[in-house]
Amino acid sequence: MMAEMRLHFLGATRTVTGSQYLLETDRARVLIDCGMFQGSPNDVIRNRVPFAYAPNEVDAVLLTHAHLDHCGLIPHLSASGFGKPIYATKGTVDLTRLVLLDSAKLQEEFSQSHQRFAKKNPDRAAVEDEETMAELAAATKEDPAAATRNAPPAAITALREPLYTVDETNTALTLFKGIDYGAEVQVAPGITATYLDAGHILGSAIIRVRVMEGNQEQIIVFSGDIGRPGSPIIRDPTPVTAADWLLIESTYGGKTHEPQEEAIRLLGEAVKLTGDAKGVLLVPSFAIGRTQEIVYELNRLLKAGTIPHLPLYLDSPMAQKASDVYRAYLDYFDDAARALIASSDSIIDYPDAIVTNGAKESLAIEQAARPFMVLASNGMITGGRIVQHVKSLVGDPAMTLLFVGYQGDGTLGAHLQQGAKQVRIDGQDLEVHCQVRSISGFSAHADEPELLAWLGNFTKKPRTTFIVHGDPAAQAAFEPKVKALGFATSVPAWRETVELA
Ligand SMILES: [Zn+2]
Repeated sequence: MMAEMRLHFLGATRTVTGSQYLLETDRARVLIDCGMFQGSPNDVIRNRVPFAYAPNEVDAVLLTHAHLDHCGLIPHLSASGFGKPIYATKGTVDLTRLVLLDSAKLQEEFSQSHQRFAKKNPDRAAVEDEETMAELAAATKEDPAAATRNAPPAAITALREPLYTVDETNTALTLFKGIDYGAEVQVAPGITATYLDAGHILGSAIIRVRVMEGNQEQIIVFSGDIGRPGSPIIRDPTPVTAADWLLIESTYGGKTHEPQEEAIRLLGEAVKLTGDAKGVLLVPSFAIGRTQEIVYELNRLLKAGTIPHLPLYLDSPMAQKASDVYRAYLDYFDDAARALIASSDSIIDYPDAIVTNGAKESLAIEQAARPFMVLASNGMITGGRIVQHVKSLVGDPAMTLLFVGYQGDGTLGAHLQQGAKQVRIDGQDLEVHCQVRSISGFSAHADEPELLAWLGNFTKKPRTTFIVHGDPAAQAAFEPKVKALGFATSVPAWRETVELA
């Protein structure tokens, strides 16, 4: 008789952040991803909802990749009692170290600035704290998905207390175990895991989990974030042909990206227009993956003589460190990138790029002689240095805000992308007069036809395919097409538990 097995959906359900799934058998508990909710304020508050299980009873964490929405709660988990191994590819381990230490540092800084604010404005701080507690109570009780979609165009950059400190993060980092793609590793009693390249960012993995009870086994495949075939630098997503249960991301359900060549053409056009107008090109970009890709394409456009040589500010210390990790894992690159490396030593560098490390240097960028370009994180303008640049330049008609990545429902980026005429940043109402453009072809995520093509590799169809990591509209568009391929589907809700039997 097959032993009982349960899967708890604890994040990235009907939203694109907060990935977290707990697989539970009679003998073991394994957590797949432990990500931070990063979208709108209604999403973010869910980071404060207590874990749905006892962290000290979890046997292992399997991490798909280094993005904060997949790894961001790991230090919190460790500080709450988890002390077992965390498995990830070696490249992911190195990138995750950067991401988590940066996250901890930001949280400590926000907390300190809030405490200074509370000292000066005790009454306002008390009201805000009360509001936060009310939000937390609401998030704990009900599914906040509807509230998320109706969120006002605002970014919360200051949470009240750090979720975790730098010290706690350093402790959590000692738990990481780097493994190789393709190796089957025992991670808990009766459970093994194999990491397959997901082609999303460096080190990213699709995780194939094998559960053995008695003489029976079941395979559960966690897609993680699936990349686009043909993306520069990294390899294509690995085809998977069989599973008993499958979780598939659906970020771009219902959407088709423009072709890569069109994306590159639009990027070149935005640079040329900025040069002609003596303006500013501001590109919100995630520090890991997208930044390296945009720099790679700008460098190629420049070498081809397609764009003028505008000064480029790389305003993300983390992006610089991430580029160093990319350079250390050339064996993860695809053949084309490796061939390029053989002929040129700097494929993810832009000539004379200006790297800004300190916050003062970052703020000084806006005084630079125009035209110029700025790449800053994060990509959805929910935090990071990009927020200050948007705050200062959003009213400037000579500024072009160029989106090159996904904007989650309710984020400031999504509101700006959809044409908001007024936004509120750090309590200040600002009118929008800048140009806003979007390029979808640089996505690190497969679009719908690419997701369906990946599903088409399955010769043994899963008993249920759980559609996760997508906003509701994307999932509603995607699900019928997955069904049409002959898959039985389910779109789990936050904190739903499913018996895998
Ligand atoms: Zn990701």
